[in-house]
Amino acid sequence: MEKIRLLIVDDHPMVLEGMKAMLQLINYIELAGTAGNAFEAIDLLKKTTVDIAIVDINLPDISGIELTAKIKKEFPRLDIQTCTCFMNSNQDRIFEWYDFLKYDLKPDKVNINFIRPPSARPKELIIDKARYDKLAHMISDDSRHAAIKNNYSGDAGFFKAAIDVYMHELITKTAMDGRPHLQCWAGSAGAVIYDEGTVSSCEILDGVGNLRDYDWDFSKLWYSPAMEARRDKVSNGCFCTHESNCYYPSLPFNPDHLVAIKKLENEMREAAECMKV
Ligand code: SF4
Repeated sequence: MEKIRLLIVDDHPMVLEGMKAMLQLINYIELAGTAGNAFEAIDLLKKTTVDIAIVDINLPDISGIELTAKIKKEFPRLDIQTCTCFMNSNQDRIFEWYDFLKYDLKPDKVNINFIRPPSARPKELIIDKARYDKLAHMISDDSRHAAIKNNYSGDAGFFKAAIDVYMHELITKTAMDGRPHLQCWAGSAGAVIYDEGTVSSCEILDGVGNLRDYDWDFSKLWYSPAMEARRDKVSNGCFCTHESNCYYPSLPFNPDHLVAIKKLENEMREAAECMKV
């Protein structure tokens, strides 16, 4: 399989180091380079082949937005994706931002994520759910009708994009209704391990145990009565809006949702085909 060459642009060395370490674990990704500012990024783009660039908005010289617009113009073969977290401090201007993405920047992929706990600034978690609901439906409609491109490259690009679009609609439905719309498999399909050894089903619920008390043997903890009790609790209708711990790992185990995602994928693919004609 040909590797995807990735460029990361971020002025925080710790973020760059963290992402580098994480990406080394993904066998189909190759790091093409890292840049701490826009000029370094453009220089790298001229010298090396890059398939995807991940660009932070806050850069020291020209902003990530300006850089992205420049990249899109100068290097049209690059796949440009945007990722925004919907939170208290940006919710008032979020539709303005979406209009900018839709009509001006026109990236290949638009992700506007529902903020998930915990947050270093708890105030950010206080959001207008109805506004996010409206936005998620706008993005879904625009994606279904190819009014925005909103898909990844590669054979599975529409499928992966359909998961995102569907998941955000499901998240907003859960937030608005205050009840579960899928069974969560946190604690079975995945777990969270903190750096001091605590293991939990997810970032939201309390730790189940600490690896120090299990001789650092993950299996012992994973098959312990405490973990079994957590799985029972989770399967008993636990719900939240955490995309990484709940929705991504759980959607494959919820067949009805997978069928709906495949339908959405087809709709998006057909609309995109029509736009080409
Ligand atoms: S629904 Fe949310 S809080 Fe409950 S177990 Fe899943 S990820 Fe954790």
